[in-house]
Amino acid sequence: MQAVAKNVRQGVNALHGSTAVLGASLKKVFASSASLPAEAEINESYVQSQLGYVSDAHKVTAPSMLQAPDYLLMGPGPSNPYPRAETAMSRKIIAHMSPYCYSIMDEIQEGLKYVLQTESKYTFGLSASGGAAMETTVANLMEPGDKAVISVAGIWGERFAEKVRRKGGIAITLDKESGETLSFEEIKAAVEEHKPKVFFTTHGESSSGTRQNLEGVGELCAANGTLLAVDTVCTLGGEPFFTDKWGVDVVYSGAQKCIGCPPGLSPMSFSEKAIEAVKARKTPVDSFSFDILEVGKQWGMFGDARPYHHTPPVNILFAMREALNIMAEEGLQASWERHNACHNQLWAGLSELGLKPFVEKAEDRLSTVNCIAVPEGVDAAVLIKHAFDKHKLEISGGLGRTAGKIWRIGLMGYNCTPRNVDSVIAAFKSGLKEQGYL
Ligand code: PMP
Repeated sequence: MQAVAKNVRQGVNALHGSTAVLGASLKKVFASSASLPAEAEINESYVQSQLGYVSDAHKVTAPSMLQAPDYLLMGPGPSNPYPRAETAMSRKIIAHMSPYCYSIMDEIQEGLKYVLQTESKYTFGLSASGGAAMETTVANLMEPGDKAVISVAGIWGERFAEKVRRKGGIAITLDKESGETLSFEEIKAAVEEHKPKVFFTTHGESSSGTRQNLEGVGELCAANGTLLAVDTVCTLGGEPFFTDKWGVDVVYSGAQKCIGCPPGLSPMSFSEKAIEAVKARKTPVDSFSFDILEVGKQWGMFGDARPYHHTPPVNILFAMREALNIMAEEGLQASWERHNACHNQLWAGLSELGLKPFVEKAEDRLSTVNCIAVPEGVDAAVLIKHAFDKHKLEISGGLGRTAGKIWRIGLMGYNCTPRNVDSVIAAFKSGLKEQGYL
């Protein structure tokens, strides 16, 4: 060791190329350091043996401060976050196991209980995407051989079914055309026939713009020993939703839509019954990261001890806390009303342009993700490009089965304002004129 320290002090002449340069700079650093004792033990030999072999093939040539484009996100998500949430996000990072971080997590739990309308203490933010929250739902509720009845009217139902199959579960799908929803009778017939462990549906199917009516479904599931799991990624905060009153056992959402937070923390809530079902599993949840019984400890759901499970995206916790505060200031009902008013304003404007909703029944239409049928002779992609290039506005096409057939307009969270609706209508008007439709 002493010999190594000596080498550093004298310069490493024996090494080749860049090694020699680095050896010289190390020498400079150490020479200027008054704290280096004469015979300090510095283990440089390993690093030095690796020098000179680095490839610069992918080295960034012009490192600079990022300048991301600034445009209005009016597609099905993400939406632009509340500026206050963005400001909160830029606060200095804190240690995730510190009392301050736990207090932020506690505040998030309170805020989520309000937005989800639940008293369940098993309410938290999953450090992951909405899709991962769906996976968490499947991973915790399903064991090999378990049955799930799944409403499939678009990509999210399809994905849930795929995830169930991959876990070795039996996916019984209730297929609907895109743009349609299930009737209570259809759900009842399937749940009573199969008595599945889980009935899953999306509250808002963002690939086709439908809202599933959930009235009575919770009672039906409870009466048949079935857990009700619901995806609210594109609806929570924008459409009425009552976790406890509707008897929902597992609900998950996303940060980046109506909640007005950047993506990265997905609201989730489990009922007492759902937690009991996880505890009663024959096999442990096959994902440690997504095991509610493990993640939940860090959120304080299973007692005062809050052991380390993972490092959450601390800055997104800050942003989520702020976004939930904004939602509480506005009030949940006022938020739902705002989303509905903007939805009506949008359709009044689009109808004047001769555009028609993709979802036929008005009562099935989401206010948060609005799907427009692309008229004959109009190129959907050209209009999307026009909106982007000329209006700095992102709108989106269809997804999965609806690709090429529809445009999707998101009216969500911070972006759901009368002014933004006017901008969308103006973009459609000039885009349709450009294609000779108007
Ligand atoms: N479910 C629905 C209804 C969605 O709209 C989305 C996102 N578009 C997801 C799940 C998946 O969310 P994420 O992109 O955050 O994984």
